[in-house]
Amino acid sequence: MTDLRTKEAIRYLGYGKHAVDEGTLGLISDSFRDLEACAAAKSIYRIFECEHTGENELQIGKMNITSRSLGRNLKGCGSVVLLGATLGTGVDLMMKRFSLTDMAKTVVLQACAAAYLEEYLDQLQEKIGEELRQQEKWLRPRFSPGYGDFDIHHQKDILKMLDTAKTIGLTMTDSYMLTPVKSVTALIGISDSDEKCHIKGCESCGKTDCIYRRN
Ligand code: SF4
Repeated sequence: MTDLRTKEAIRYLGYGKHAVDEGTLGLISDSFRDLEACAAAKSIYRIFECEHTGENELQIGKMNITSRSLGRNLKGCGSVVLLGATLGTGVDLMMKRFSLTDMAKTVVLQACAAAYLEEYLDQLQEKIGEELRQQEKWLRPRFSPGYGDFDIHHQKDILKMLDTAKTIGLTMTDSYMLTPVKSVTALIGISDSDEKCHIKGCESCGKTDCIYRRN
């Protein structure tokens, strides 16, 4: 049976409902094995107060955000988890190495690394969510800068607020690309009510009429 991360990698590769050939399945399984060997996943998170200062306006720590989609998703949340996570420089180096000799493997590796990072984030979110449930608090889906109308420029604020350069070795270029490449910054709303959010986010959630839906 195909495991979840393999399914995700197949989805990122754009197969949709088409059958995947044995050769590609072999490359996927090799890529996950390579990732297990060279990824050094690290993360940091902190909880900040979240103030709704106006329509589509939010203040989180020193960050002032104007975003309709984020405002909607964080409705009713008085605090948020800010997080940064990375698979480390080893994954970048491996991808660079393969890109010089084997394009097919590089494409599959890209998809597998994205699935691997998502799996790591899901597990981290489960762990944070479990801790918060003891305090009768629940998490909304992850929301990253660049998603919807949440300005990518806020990535810089998040890196600074979490001091990611020092804590997990995560920085960014002038064009807002994260370094290492296989990294993520995100925020997650903390709510007093249990919306039973889907770990894979609103796109995978069946509650199409949810007022907090991020899309
Ligand atoms: S649509 Fe689903 S995942 Fe999204 S906020 Fe609503 S309950 Fe949570």
